[in-house]
Amino acid sequence: MLAEKLLLNLLITLAPVLLFSILIENKRKINSPILCGFLQSIASLACMIFSYSNYGFNWDLRYVPLILAFLYAGPVAGGMVLTTLFGTRILMGGETVVFGIVNTLFTALLPLLFTKKIWNFKPKKRVFLATLIGAWSLLLCYFSLTIFRYLEGNFFKLDFNIPDLLLVGLIQTMAIALEAKLVEGIIERIRMKKEIQRSEKLNTLGELAASIAHEVRNPLTVVKGFLQLMQQEEKGKNYQYLSLVLSELGRAESIISDYLNFAKPNFEKIEEFPLKVVLAEVVMLLEPLAAKQGVQLESELDTTWFILVTDRNQLKQALVNLIKNAIEATPDGGKVTIHNKSDNNKASILIKDTGKGMTPEQLSRIGTLFYTTKDKGTGLGTSVSLRIIETMNGKVFYKSEPGVGTEVRMVLPGSKKPALVNF
Ligand code: ADP
Ligand code: MG
Repeated sequence: MLAEKLLLNLLITLAPVLLFSILIENKRKINSPILCGFLQSIASLACMIFSYSNYGFNWDLRYVPLILAFLYAGPVAGGMVLTTLFGTRILMGGETVVFGIVNTLFTALLPLLFTKKIWNFKPKKRVFLATLIGAWSLLLCYFSLTIFRYLEGNFFKLDFNIPDLLLVGLIQTMAIALEAKLVEGIIERIRMKKEIQRSEKLNTLGELAASIAHEVRNPLTVVKGFLQLMQQEEKGKNYQYLSLVLSELGRAESIISDYLNFAKPNFEKIEEFPLKVVLAEVVMLLEPLAAKQGVQLESELDTTWFILVTDRNQLKQALVNLIKNAIEATPDGGKVTIHNKSDNNKASILIKDTGKGMTPEQLSRIGTLFYTTKDKGTGLGTSVSLRIIETMNGKVFYKSEPGVGTEVRMVLPGSKKPALVNF
């Protein structure tokens, strides 16, 4: 009897997850805590209606929608389920109302604490956490049941046997684990859908813009050439004006080349070279900029010879962009450090600054084309670097804290070799 009721409850709690999964297939707006809260509230209500009654206690899976709503849809959805549970429990009445209310309140506490924190975990850990919270609610339930039994012991006798209690525990834990896994599946599907839409949009836009940029670059080069010729014959004010025009043209040209490089990284000359040589060159190149900003640029380079096989200039470009950003973000008196470390087939380069750092929101936008917070920025540097490193089959990881600094870690494939090659 109990098992049948619990299995029916399991189906009821599964329904909102399945329904939500169907709804998001057809709707564009997917983050709707109200809809989620509504569906979960109905599920918890249905669980209470189809519960197994025993001496005034009702055994069902009503806490499954409560925990899932708090964890995955936030405090609003969780609050809706909680209100439904309270309302229904009070309406149902009986001797155990206080027990039911107190138990529900305590069960809601832990998932409420994790509503925001849960998103700091990876999907697998989130499922595990949801299951643990489910187990916590059970422990709480058994605990309060014992206290209740003790308090009311004289005139109230419970008739539960241990296998029944274990069965409730088992099915509730299983339901939470299963449904959390399903919800994670939905989240992953939404993320992939968004990613595909974004990359499709970027691809079309990118191709269009790249062809325009390419067409604009040629006349620009011609104009620049003639202006340089004209400048040689000019004196006084006109000479200064032309200098200004030429420098602005140079800027436009570099933006266009950066953009074209992003649209299609051009790996012209693939060669073998040691990473530390390129790193040393880049550091030397950027030392004047750091000095001008009053930033200390330090490099602690590994002594091993780690050999990369790729376009040396492209790698330099990627490194320059990232280190330049670190220098630009660091105030006068700050420090930018470059470390590298390598094992047999991959090297990691760490660019660490003591600059202004980034908020999680800014961090999520980094690498988006034309995203910049600088007055004279282009928002191309990071995108170009990420694209180049991606083309090299490498990876970039960002870690940042506002007011503390940023850490950029690049991982590049290659090989550790003794110094046999001449450079
Ligand atoms: P730009 O440098 O032209 O603004 P980027 O693509 O190089 O464009 O950088 C985009 C934005 O990312 C910057 O405007 C800055 O806000 C942020 N950013 C990049 N690197 C860092 C860093 N090391 N510290 C703080 N903010 C950074
Ligand atoms: Mg930049």
